[in-house]
Amino acid sequence: MNLIVLQEHDFISPNRVQLGGRQLEHIAQVHRAEPGQRLRVGLLNGQIGSGEIIALNAHSVELEVTFAIDPPQALPLTLILALPRPKMLKRVIQHLTALGVKKLILVNSYRVEKSYWQTPWLQEDKLFEQCLLGLEQAVDTQMPEILLRKRFKPFVEDELPELCAESRKLVAHPVGGSACPVDIKQPTTLAIGPEGGFINYEVEKLQEVGFQSVHLGPRILRVETALPVLISRLFPAS
Ligand code: SAH
Repeated sequence: MNLIVLQEHDFISPNRVQLGGRQLEHIAQVHRAEPGQRLRVGLLNGQIGSGEIIALNAHSVELEVTFAIDPPQALPLTLILALPRPKMLKRVIQHLTALGVKKLILVNSYRVEKSYWQTPWLQEDKLFEQCLLGLEQAVDTQMPEILLRKRFKPFVEDELPELCAESRKLVAHPVGGSACPVDIKQPTTLAIGPEGGFINYEVEKLQEVGFQSVHLGPRILRVETALPVLISRLFPAS
């Protein structure tokens, strides 16, 4: 937890928060913090600043908080991701949040098992929790927006063209296409397939609405590896 993310319900006065649970545990056990000490805090979807510990006991910690700087810039990226298996979904959501993705669309695809859509990890509160872990990790406060689209074809035909209208459109696919571009500095919509890959029909559907197929070389990577490789290649840290 590199940032203590504060939510409205944590505030007991305009500049004071009271925290318990996981955050208290972290402050007490990892930071071994004591009253008077300052910790980095951030307001959910707001600024980053610091919080001075005013009181600390076994049940709660009180901090006096001030905010000073904006969170890191969002990546100009909309990610379309074939729904991963539940175990991977959790990790992937945390990682892509930490990498700065602010818009994610989880889509169905031929090689996504139907049962994956039943996982409790897709519930709004569970997705929120995983995103929060990503924000805490990355010292960011801007919560990503996540959409679920259970039908590939209507999504691609009816919704996607408008959604990606002003952006560069790329589909990561290991075969064919061209090498994935580097440092593109452009709003981008990027589609990543499921563990079994997109089927040709799906790649063609995406190509019909303007997506260009790009690859990362001859090695086939797992989604959780392909994701940071693609993102750091398209948007290198500056
Ligand atoms: N089994 C599939 C690969 C799936 S890898 C096959 O053999 O084609 C899962 C997803 O990660 C892919 O759909 C793609 O979006 C991305 N990916 C993995 N390795 C890649 C590579 N070398 N180039 C481009 N995309 C890759």
